[in-house]
Amino acid sequence: MDLEKLIHDRIRDVPDYPKPGVLFKDITPLLADHVAFAGVVDAIVNHHGRGTIDKIVGIEARGFILAAPVAYHFGAGFVPVRKKGKLPARTYEETYDLEYGTETIEVHADAFGPGERVLIVDDVLATGGTARAAAELVGRTGAQVVGLSVLLELSFLRGRDRLGDLDVHALVTV
Ligand code: 5GP
Repeated sequence: MDLEKLIHDRIRDVPDYPKPGVLFKDITPLLADHVAFAGVVDAIVNHHGRGTIDKIVGIEARGFILAAPVAYHFGAGFVPVRKKGKLPARTYEETYDLEYGTETIEVHADAFGPGERVLIVDDVLATGGTARAAAELVGRTGAQVVGLSVLLELSFLRGRDRLGDLDVHALVTV
């Protein structure tokens, strides 16, 4: 089965989660299928040439699940971007708007060396607010964001439009 079809088959639509009117894309069936999970990790690694990236950033929490095996297979380090208050040492923080309210994410201030090349990995690109905040954080440390890889892009929410000229790679787009 081709990977794109497999990904579509293994992502479950959950209506009215986390609130009424939202159709949530649940990736847990995909993660539970070892062929689909490995296929996704390999496809992200193969899209970017090995040796071209120093660090992979994973965004809490589902981004961690994809970013850690990508980092391992890439031969790159892993850096977590976490919700405010979870990282123990000195951080940079970035606050962004959600549909209702705001969210704040952080990265350790010393997570990257100067000029290091960084790929951000997350499960879903929706409005782009999370990815944009993560890219801002990485930029503030002095490292260089070379791209964003996501499993699924919800193109009707136009997240790409908020990401300027960032190289966005989505395995599947709906
Ligand atoms: P954005 O900031 O682009 O609007 O939302 C993306 C972030 O919210 C990602 O970190 C992603 O994990 C989460 N997210 C938003 N909508 C969905 C969804 O339908 N399914 C999943 N799995 N995550 C979502």
